[in-house]
Amino acid sequence: MIYQRLVSGLRDSGLRLTPQRLAICRVLSESKDHPTAMMVYHSLLPEFPTMSLATVYKTLNVLREQGLVLALGAAGDGMEHYDADLDPHVHLVCVKCHRVVDFMGEDIYTIQQKVASSSGYQIQGARIVYYGVCPDCAQAADTARERVS
Ligand SMILES: [Zn+2]
Ligand SMILES: [Zn+2]
Repeated sequence: MIYQRLVSGLRDSGLRLTPQRLAICRVLSESKDHPTAMMVYHSLLPEFPTMSLATVYKTLNVLREQGLVLALGAAGDGMEHYDADLDPHVHLVCVKCHRVVDFMGEDIYTIQQKVASSSGYQIQGARIVYYGVCPDCAQAADTARERVS
């Protein structure tokens, strides 16, 4: 389970398992929307009004160094997005609304296996990101165009 993996990663790194840090692990393990540090922070603020953004960054950095969360880079918004799901999958980034969604498929496993077998590498993770405009934003743009013409 992802949550357990993150918590034992923090423990291994010698960080104290405060309620805040455990909650950060919970958000990361449950989230499907590839949150930024800011998004994690805001989702926990009602529960932990005294938590600092630095705590979120520090926890994310430790988890990233341990290879337990993947830093996906910016989604056109200049913010690092994180993913705790390490199964090979493709990310679709919308450059308009900055949403990041997963795309799973057999082919992606196949490619990873091919890369591993022909390179001799033991693959630990992959960051595959496609950029584009999501169906919602494309439709909104179409509607706006129709209104103008
Ligand atoms: Zn969009
Ligand atoms: Zn993902």
